[in-house]
Amino acid sequence: MASGKVHALIGIMIFFMFALVLFMFASDLGLTENIFESTLITATGLFALVFSVLGSILPDIDHRRSNIYKQTRNFLCVLIAIALFSAALMHTDDLATAAVAAVAGFVITFVAITLFKPRHRGFTHTIRAAIIYSLVAVTIYYFSFEKIAEYSGTTPDESVMVLLSTMIFLVSFTAYFSHNAVDMEFKL
Ligand SMILES: [Zn+2]
Repeated sequence: MASGKVHALIGIMIFFMFALVLFMFASDLGLTENIFESTLITATGLFALVFSVLGSILPDIDHRRSNIYKQTRNFLCVLIAIALFSAALMHTDDLATAAVAAVAGFVITFVAITLFKPRHRGFTHTIRAAIIYSLVAVTIYYFSFEKIAEYSGTTPDESVMVLLSTMIFLVSFTAYFSHNAVDMEFKL
C-alpha cells in the first residue's frame, strides 16, 4: 500500500497541472483584468488545491491505520463530545454531569465508528465514489462563488462559471481517481 504521503504528493502534482491550465485559460480569456476576476481565479486555485489533496487521500478513510481515518474519527468524537457538553449545560448547572455526557458521547462515537467502518478498499476505492466526491466538490465550489459574487456585487459570466466548474470537477475526479489507480483498484 502506498502511504498517505505518496497519495498526497500525486494530488499536489495534479493540482499544479490544473493551475497551469487555469492560468493559460485565465490570461487567454482576459480573466485577470479586473480585481473580481483575479479574485475568482485565485479562489478557484485554492479550491482546486484543497480538493486535489483531500481527494487523493480521502479513499483511505476506510483504513484503520490511515491518518485521514484517525483524524476524521477523532474530529467526530470531539465534535459530539462538545455538542453533548453544551446541550447538558443548557439543562443543568452541574459541570460533572456535563462532563459525564461529554465523555459518554466521545466513547460511544468512537465505538460506533470502529464497529461500523466499511471494509478497506471497498466503496471508497471505486469510480462511483470518485464521481460522488467530484459532484460534492463542484457543488461546494459553485455555491461558494454565488456568495463571493453577491458580496462583490458582480455576476460572473455564465460560460466562465461553467468552464471553471467543469475544471473543478475534473481536477477533483482526477485527484480522487489517482488514489485508486495507485492502489490498482479500478472497480466501478
Ligand atoms: Zn487506498
